[in-house]
Amino acid sequence: MLVLVINSGSSSLKYQVRDVSAGSVLTEGLIEKIGMGNGGDGDGEIEGPRDHAEALELVDAAIHRELGDLELGAVGHRVVHGGERFAEPVQIDNEITRAIERLNPLAPLHNPANVLGIRAITKKWPDMPQVAVFDTAFHRTLPEHAWRYAVPDELYTNHGIRRYGFHGTSHEYVTRRAAALLDLPVEEFDGVIAHLGNGASVTAIRGGHSVDTSMGFTPLEGLVMGTRSGDLDPSILVFLGRAGWTPEDLDTMLNRESGLKGLAGNNDMRSVVEAAESGDAKAATALAVTSYRLAKYIGGYHVAVGGAKALVFTAGIGENSHQFRALVADRLGALGIELDAGLNAERSREPRVISTPQSAIPVLVIPTDEERAIAEATAAVVSPAG
Ligand code: ADP
Repeated sequence: MLVLVINSGSSSLKYQVRDVSAGSVLTEGLIEKIGMGNGGDGDGEIEGPRDHAEALELVDAAIHRELGDLELGAVGHRVVHGGERFAEPVQIDNEITRAIERLNPLAPLHNPANVLGIRAITKKWPDMPQVAVFDTAFHRTLPEHAWRYAVPDELYTNHGIRRYGFHGTSHEYVTRRAAALLDLPVEEFDGVIAHLGNGASVTAIRGGHSVDTSMGFTPLEGLVMGTRSGDLDPSILVFLGRAGWTPEDLDTMLNRESGLKGLAGNNDMRSVVEAAESGDAKAATALAVTSYRLAKYIGGYHVAVGGAKALVFTAGIGENSHQFRALVADRLGALGIELDAGLNAERSREPRVISTPQSAIPVLVIPTDEERAIAEATAAVVSPAG
């Protein structure tokens, strides 16, 4: 089956056409500057479309230019927030679209854009099966002691304030691949998965299910990220609010100006590592804070899963930065974790083990592929028999 995977943002639309049985990408692209007037980047790329419907026309034209006539079997949408309702991918109908829309307050930047993408497809291809794959769904198995915040109950019951967790599609895909690499049925996989991209989160997996995860009510909580602070004392916000910072000021500071960027002046891990290696003290501090935070979470989640059988690194930094992996592993001596320096430094796109045979548990690098996971989930929902 051919599946069109759509990741729809407020002003962008990323797409891939995948052949699910072959596991291959037939074509992919990115439409940017939607609704920004005469956009485009001026080098022959697509000029800015007026809205998501116009963006979809450009996608359709591009797909046909690349691949000629072909029959798409379904469209799979990455949807950021599935709230408490969605624990699985679902086939979209009007009721589901409205349910996703009702979750807009929980993900004000993302869900409205996802809905625009869904409506554009519905309008253009009314008979096309569409499936929503939610970033939060994999974390619906969190026990209450992990998802509750210790605040008045009313905040949960009236405002839905609880831990939801994100990056679920990636954590689930990587869990399956890690179990396969270790020759374990996924139900027997207990481990800790560190998804380290511009956004970063770590998840505790017991019996193949998510039992804790570092992102919370929003994707801000937890690890130090490219431009996000991760955990801090909430009183800092009260303090700044009293000093005149507006909610928008705080939002910008925490989500766009913090993390590696706030500490080292740069949100790209490669540049931060290079700067630290050439003696930049701020970059060295940024790496120390970031690796220490992650190591603390890994230690905690080792306890949460009752003894991890593996530690897994994935996403841009996790897959590529051997320096950052080494910094984290150096802090995990108490768990008996030991990297093989040679294996760690190897460049490869394959799932692999990077620890020594003496390491108490194996350390793995598993490349993530969210689009592939979305395409597979979409095909499984649309034709369950395969
Ligand atoms: P996103 O969350 O945007 O999908 P990615 O998973 O692409 O992010 O990860 C982006 C991060 O990965 C950046 O910090 C970047 O520096 C880092 N990264 C990408 N390639 C490499 C590499 N070869 N070496 C070190 N870090 C890398």
